[in-house]
Amino acid sequence: MNVVVIGAGYVGLVTACCLAEAGNQVVCVDHDIDKIKTLEAGQVPFHEPGLDKLLGDQLQANRLFFENNVARAVRNADIIFLAIGTPSQSNGSANLDNLLHCAKELANTAFGDCIVVIKSTVPVGTADRIEEILNVGEAGYGAHPRVFVASNPEFLAEGRAVKDFHAPCRIVVGTNEDYPATVLDELYAPFDPDRSRLLFMDRRTAEFAKYACNAMLAARISMINELSDIAGRLNADIQAVCRVLKSDPRIGDSYLYPGVGYGGSCLPKDLCALIACAGTVQEPAYMLRSIERVNRRQGQLLLETIRHHFGGQLEGRRIAVWGLSFKPDTDDVRASPSLTLIQNLLEEGALVSAYDPVATIAAQRALGAASIIFGRSGMEVCKGADVLVVMTEWDEFKTTDFGKLAELLQSHAIFDARNMFDASALQAYGLQHYRLGQIASPANQQIALVG
Ligand code: NAD
Repeated sequence: MNVVVIGAGYVGLVTACCLAEAGNQVVCVDHDIDKIKTLEAGQVPFHEPGLDKLLGDQLQANRLFFENNVARAVRNADIIFLAIGTPSQSNGSANLDNLLHCAKELANTAFGDCIVVIKSTVPVGTADRIEEILNVGEAGYGAHPRVFVASNPEFLAEGRAVKDFHAPCRIVVGTNEDYPATVLDELYAPFDPDRSRLLFMDRRTAEFAKYACNAMLAARISMINELSDIAGRLNADIQAVCRVLKSDPRIGDSYLYPGVGYGGSCLPKDLCALIACAGTVQEPAYMLRSIERVNRRQGQLLLETIRHHFGGQLEGRRIAVWGLSFKPDTDDVRASPSLTLIQNLLEEGALVSAYDPVATIAAQRALGAASIIFGRSGMEVCKGADVLVVMTEWDEFKTTDFGKLAELLQSHAIFDARNMFDASALQAYGLQHYRLGQIASPANQQIALVG
């Protein structure tokens, strides 16, 4: 099939590469000309395991092309995917400006019968709006009455996006007509060999399902974080509690890792967008609002614990931070708890040195002129530091040389905001270990001493 993917970001580029690999002719469009040049040169402009090779292979096979001109790209399209960002507006609702702008551009463009598929995460009713723009034609825009609009929200997770696309847990297709259902069934067949993963429903339900999924994941994270905080204060061990929780099939074993809160480009903004959507139908969304509050508090608790360690004063303290991305295996720093912490530390006069295996450039861009020392290794940023805060659970941190850390850290304390380390290993080197939801002892403190 002739596939066009508009938006060459984390979702669009993975979609374009994987659909090309499946044998389709794919044109991927982005209005960022520099990004297009980079991609044409075979380079992925962000970190996503496995994507570089896939991109190179598909370029070489002449199945994947890049464009910055929508009109040129869509002329012979059978399917046009919209994978454009939908960030938060100041009131929390999803900003659809780029997406609707793109729909209007399409409405003004000549192309044949085809299906427009919305992959972006969008509020319920967006497909209806886009269909109206395309099929009815707004004033000044052409009409495309033979264009079908379907919803196909994406569920891939950064860091394993290629794997997720190859073997999805489910492929949600929202359409009110048979034709798009048949075409998408055929397109996705290589990724659904036993024909069990395609879930068909109406468009509004598909749009809602994506938000529901992210709300459920965010709820689990905030729930385990709140339980962890309570456990720590009661001198109970959340790790042992997690083993109990995971053994219950009604609860399951995913997303039960206490940490510093969720971040990234999806959960925070999608939760806010869902709360905003709920508001439009007079639903108070008490639960969703609590999830969000717990998440914000989690970062604050860590900051307060660090402050408390220094007797309430962070001015002039040297703090090393490991991990800048919101999770391992990605360089995405959007809404990263690590960047929020760094900004708070700097505001209180602390001196920050930071290291991340892949996200340094993205963090430098996001933090702008902030004066932070970025290092090329974890140990380098600990030289002369008072304490270390571990914010992202990268694999390479699992094999830390605590002996060396004990020599470098002036104040002999590690804030283990991902509960990565074994308390006894740190204790053996005289390192004070702050972690989440643990029984407190002089050498082993729980994060959230102050709350
Ligand atoms: P992104 O910001 O990485 O990429 C979006 C791309 O669209 C950018 O390259 C931008 O230049 C381009 N763009 C914007 N407007 C355009 C236009 N009018 N014409 C052409 N290109 C345009 O975003 P993303 O992370 O890939 O997310 C895309 C959508 O998918 C969002 O709605 C997001 O919520 C959803 N989603 C993201 C993930 C994820 O893990 N990143 C997972 C599932 C769903």
